[in-house]
Amino acid sequence: WQTLSRRIDAVAPSATLAVDSKAKAMKAQGMNVISFGAGEPNFPTPDHIVQAAARACLDPSNHRYTPTAGLPQLKQAIADKTLRDSGYQIDPDQAVVTNGGKQAVYETFQILLNPGDEVIIPAPYWTSYPQMVLLAGGRPVPVLSGADQGYIPSLEQLEAARTERTRAIILNVPANPTGTVWDDDLVAAVGRWAVEHQIWVISDEIYEHLTYQEAHTPYPGALVPQVRDQLIVVNGVAKTYAMTGWRVGWLIAPLPVAKAAAKLQGHMTSNVANVSQQAALAALTGGLEDVEAMRSAFALRRRAIVDALNAMQGVTCPEPLGAFYAFADVTGLLNQPVGPQDTVCATSGELAEVILEQIQVAAVPGEAFGAPGCLRFSYALADDDLAEGMRRLGDWISA
Ligand code: PLP
Repeated sequence: WQTLSRRIDAVAPSATLAVDSKAKAMKAQGMNVISFGAGEPNFPTPDHIVQAAARACLDPSNHRYTPTAGLPQLKQAIADKTLRDSGYQIDPDQAVVTNGGKQAVYETFQILLNPGDEVIIPAPYWTSYPQMVLLAGGRPVPVLSGADQGYIPSLEQLEAARTERTRAIILNVPANPTGTVWDDDLVAAVGRWAVEHQIWVISDEIYEHLTYQEAHTPYPGALVPQVRDQLIVVNGVAKTYAMTGWRVGWLIAPLPVAKAAAKLQGHMTSNVANVSQQAALAALTGGLEDVEAMRSAFALRRRAIVDALNAMQGVTCPEPLGAFYAFADVTGLLNQPVGPQDTVCATSGELAEVILEQIQVAAVPGEAFGAPGCLRFSYALADDDLAEGMRRLGDWISA
């Protein structure tokens, strides 16, 4: 009787959360760990958002449940923001407010998939996508593009993965873990291909405001209006407004799908914390000045980390144009002695463990993202820590 369900046994724990908690535990023991592990901005949530939440907290009318799908004024703000950023109109009732973008992705797969339905997942991918597909009884179909392709697939590669069981494709532009930003042409081509083959497009736009140089976020719903009947957008305030702990995300879907998501959520978590929704409302209606300040800081760190990584022997890091991650190919460090102790690592997973132990630098191994041979470095950490972490890694490799 002490066995667990096959469903949960088939799922792997979140590798990013595991690296982060190991780094935090080592810090708690007094070790000077530099963590490139967590995808979490080091900035505090902007003050006007915190103030709005504090005011909401003091008003007893906010101590109650809200509608399961979210506060009407927040759903309106999501519709307004979609028009402002993506350039197309939605009905506010197409939005469902969720406990982070994570719950939005989870609900999407639960709603769309029957057992054996396939989901095409461009790899390297966010670590939770395939696990969530499995939890919904579906079959993840990763399509890997390596550093030589800048981690961006071609339409032909995606088409080669399509079968009659293909139910959905998930796009994440800008991407975690690679920071890649697909161009308009590719996203439009994928949108048209999805329409032609009646495949759902799930567009995870959580890093939409974090792009650098000439890059911008391509919105499938804007580029290919016909795809909107089979499009589910996932988004949230965590990355844009440094609000990871507030747990507010949303999905935008055709009305019957949004209703289904609310039905599911009604049996899972009900509404997102009322006060957190009020904070998200202040974020979405409050302009993008704070976001721009954080983006500028990330832009400087991006330059620093990409240059530092590419200067290291055996490390190649294609230029990331979005999010706050550098994804380095480290195959040049494997299967040979590295570091002052001449350590030999066969995999990027081993390498990540070795650098955490020997120089207290935490990075997430590519295995977690369907791309062995790589390490993900989040540069959402303080400037000094970034410089110190890169110095330690560079010295260790050249020792
Ligand atoms: N989607 C991607 C690609 C992410 O990287 C993350 C967070 O790491 C999320 C969704 C979920 O974010 P949250 O649940 O904190 O809103």
